[in-house]
Amino acid sequence: MMKTIVDHLRAFWNSLADFLFPRVCVTCGARLSTGKRFVCTCCEQDMPLVRYPSFEDNPMARRFWAFPAFVRAFSFFFYQRGSYKTRILYEFKYHHNPQLAVYMGRLLAQSPTFQGFFNDIDCLIPVPLSVERQKERGYNQSERLAAGISQITGIPVENNVVVRVTDNPSQTHLTAMERCDNVRSIFALTPHADALRGKHILLIDDVFTTGATLVELSAVCVQIPEIRFSVVTLALASYTFYSQ
Ligand SMILES: [Zn+2]
Repeated sequence: MMKTIVDHLRAFWNSLADFLFPRVCVTCGARLSTGKRFVCTCCEQDMPLVRYPSFEDNPMARRFWAFPAFVRAFSFFFYQRGSYKTRILYEFKYHHNPQLAVYMGRLLAQSPTFQGFFNDIDCLIPVPLSVERQKERGYNQSERLAAGISQITGIPVENNVVVRVTDNPSQTHLTAMERCDNVRSIFALTPHADALRGKHILLIDDVFTTGATLVELSAVCVQIPEIRFSVVTLALASYTFYSQ
């Protein structure tokens, strides 16, 4: 009985809050209905989802095939620079919206696309930011994504096994080849990495473009004895790979 009254009060408060402080979809700007957060139902259903038939063999996974320890890789949706459909990434990266990153992590982990993907994964490792960059932004967007995935899957996030020893300069003016050189040796394992011996880790980043950063992180992580690793990103740059 008490619970029912509390539920009614909560529902009333939510409706009142929506009326007084209307919340809008970060993608299209439409007003959100009660119970919706960040993204409206239309935009959620209209997301350009990645639909490769296999986690183990797809253009993103092939980027890691050189590593015997690699298991699988997948991404949630295609990202097109400037597209209103993928404004989500821009929002949580540059507009100080870490809660949106957590929300998207939850959405990804709940998606039917990822059914079976998280089986036998022991821990989640977000791509670390440099100390300076994290201070500047206030949070690590990949860590927030990992937190959302963890809330749904129950798999723990490990934030202290690998560090970014140096920040790579802005890559926007570099060619793909130069980008690969630019990220060489920017990560290092910490003594905590010893505890991951024999585990299956999942590396997490917000966007997969050339894959150079994740390949570099993989190269560092495979130094852990008997490790296996998989990769997941929220978005896949559609100018790198196509859905067919
Ligand atoms: Zn919308």
